[in-house]
Amino acid sequence: MSLVIIGSVAFDTVRTPWGDRERIVGGSVPYCSLAASFFTRPRIVGVVGRDFPRKTLALLKSRGVDLRGLRIKAGKTFFWEGKYEDDPNKRTTLRTDLNVYADFRPEIPEAYRGSRIVYLANLNPEHHAFVLSQFRKPAVVAMDTIRLWIDTKREALLRELGRVDIYFANDEEARMITGESNLVAAGRALVRLGPSLVLLKKGEHGALVFGRDFVFGVLAHPCEHVIDPTGAGDSFAGGFLGYLAGREGLHLRDVRRAAVYGSVLASFTIEDFGLGRLETLDAGLVEARFRQFRKMSTF
Ligand code: AMP
Repeated sequence: MSLVIIGSVAFDTVRTPWGDRERIVGGSVPYCSLAASFFTRPRIVGVVGRDFPRKTLALLKSRGVDLRGLRIKAGKTFFWEGKYEDDPNKRTTLRTDLNVYADFRPEIPEAYRGSRIVYLANLNPEHHAFVLSQFRKPAVVAMDTIRLWIDTKREALLRELGRVDIYFANDEEARMITGESNLVAAGRALVRLGPSLVLLKKGEHGALVFGRDFVFGVLAHPCEHVIDPTGAGDSFAGGFLGYLAGREGLHLRDVRRAAVYGSVLASFTIEDFGLGRLETLDAGLVEARFRQFRKMSTF
């Protein structure tokens, strides 16, 4: 099945207790597409300014990412700055400059319109309908969100949750949307809002997968030195959806394995700043860590 990823492409400045990096490439699309590229040839839709490095475009291309939906516009690329304290699951946004992303109305290239899996990565929920109307008949629509939309577009967000098949949330977002402090109650409440699958990410504690009548837990790779947690969520989604794109339908066995691959890809991303670890990663290492996950949770 073909996968389309629609979202942000960015320059990020990240401040962590282990060091800072200024204006490194980030955004939901690069993380998600590189992670997915281990399983499929993801198609991306986004916008960058003329200041965006050719080197990153070449990297994505070399991994089989389809760039026909990436627009290069006069102006500056989206910029985000964030800071982490000792707890890698908590971050503060220090600055967001939307730049060319401000009037991003995603145009889906004709060649992508028959795609089967559509991932709306952190988009303004008010833009979902416009984006989805350009696809012929996707089999699976997945979405993620950020705190900003929960705070400012709650009604639109709840409406969109009623329409998608898969929803990725972290623990904080799940609690904010549902008002439930218990994560199991929050996951179940999210499924009742519409999606047939809810992937609840718990940072260094792994993820829970909720369906209509099942729940499945995935560990996180035991990592003592988280260098930069940015992009973990997008890498999880990329690993998960990328793996499913290589299968047919949403069979439970594939969903479980996809969740483990999501966790595997996220575990690599946090080992270095920005895209650093995904850049050097190869399929053999992904498989080796997948096997480690299996060993870790078999009893
Ligand atoms: P995550 O996977 O949740 O860590 O996502 C991190 C990425 O989200 C960073 O690389 C940022 O560039 C991107 N980001 C931050 N704020 C926004 C926003 N308002 N809209 C879209 N993307 C964003």
